[in-house]
Amino acid sequence: MPTTKPATSDTGDALLLTPGPLTTSASVKQAMVHDWGSRDAEFLRINKMVLDKIVELAGGQGTHVTVPVQGSGTFAVEAMITSFVPRTGKLLVLINGAYGQRAKKIAEIAGRAVTSYETAEDTPPDLAKLDALLAADKAITHVFAVHCETTSGILNPIAEIAALVARQGRRLLVDSMSAFGALEIDARQIHYDALAASSNKCLEGVPGLGFVVCRNEALAECKGNATTLVLDLFDQAEAFARTGQYRFTPPIHVIVALGKAIEEHAAEGGVAGRGKRYRENGKVLIDGMRAMGFRTLLPERLQAPIIITFHMPTDPKFVFQRFYDGLKDRGYVIYPGKLTVADSFRMGCIGRLYPEHMKGALAAVREVLDELRVSNGGPALAAE
Ligand SMILES: *Cc1c(COP(=O)(O)O)cnc(C)c1O
Repeated sequence: MPTTKPATSDTGDALLLTPGPLTTSASVKQAMVHDWGSRDAEFLRINKMVLDKIVELAGGQGTHVTVPVQGSGTFAVEAMITSFVPRTGKLLVLINGAYGQRAKKIAEIAGRAVTSYETAEDTPPDLAKLDALLAADKAITHVFAVHCETTSGILNPIAEIAALVARQGRRLLVDSMSAFGALEIDARQIHYDALAASSNKCLEGVPGLGFVVCRNEALAECKGNATTLVLDLFDQAEAFARTGQYRFTPPIHVIVALGKAIEEHAAEGGVAGRGKRYRENGKVLIDGMRAMGFRTLLPERLQAPIIITFHMPTDPKFVFQRFYDGLKDRGYVIYPGKLTVADSFRMGCIGRLYPEHMKGALAAVREVLDELRVSNGGPALAAE
């Protein structure tokens, strides 16, 4: 058992070193202790501010619009795919993890023609191969790519993919769920039709709102594409333009908290400031874990500063559940891996966490290893 008091967030909760939902600030949670009607002028003002601010963060002022979707991030991804890919269209999904797989499943369920290009979870798509795939199949109208594939933490080459897709005259849909707000993706440089993200990742709000940043001209072509009522982005956008309101009950508290979270994001220096803190967190974590013998799945050049995948130590005395529980007892929640390429676990460096929290987590890892009598966190053989 731990000898010291467990670490906590500023509201006394365990720290979430996970892919999300994440640790949020006390002030973000405090923003939710009111009730508003969905037609309340103050709520609608905050909502508009949130949507406008997201377009600004995306670099899409004047060219793009944020269409919110009640629900988790996947609701926004499903809304994006089913609103943008026409029923006669064909989607190419780039897959190197669970979120690419999920997008393919969404398209299949929605009855869209879909094909995929899959690489291993530690491997970005090969651009020459993608180019050849698009050249060979003229029926493909849209390409779906994941910015940071949270399954492994790999950073996919989104700018290069976008340039290639545009050169081939196809449309791009981006899942930037775990990167938006911390990693630069500027609509003035990176051409896409739609980009999906959510309230509870790098923007550090609470879960409950997805959103899709849509290129105005592309959204205008989406009338009648949707195969569900609630996830119809064209209809949702049209209702906003007409009434300034949601078609169905919005997660009001979540949106007001997101307004506060976006204020705090700006105060930290926007995307650059948020990204800098996460990169510092990631560096402290990776250096410290390596010093204890742990090995990362990904080489530095492919590693996004979002979540880090570590190989499971091979020492038979290392039992993941005990490791997990020991860290939880000390106030740190980590995440199991869900890779097929390697037995692994993950530690996130996003959310309201600072380098001191990462140092605390490292000290807890050391204590738990000692408790388990594991001297070294490494695999016995070089596996990279
Ligand atoms: C978190 C995440 C999602 C959405 O997941 P939800 O559980 O629905 O919020 C989608 N794509 C990526 C890459 C993610 O990291």
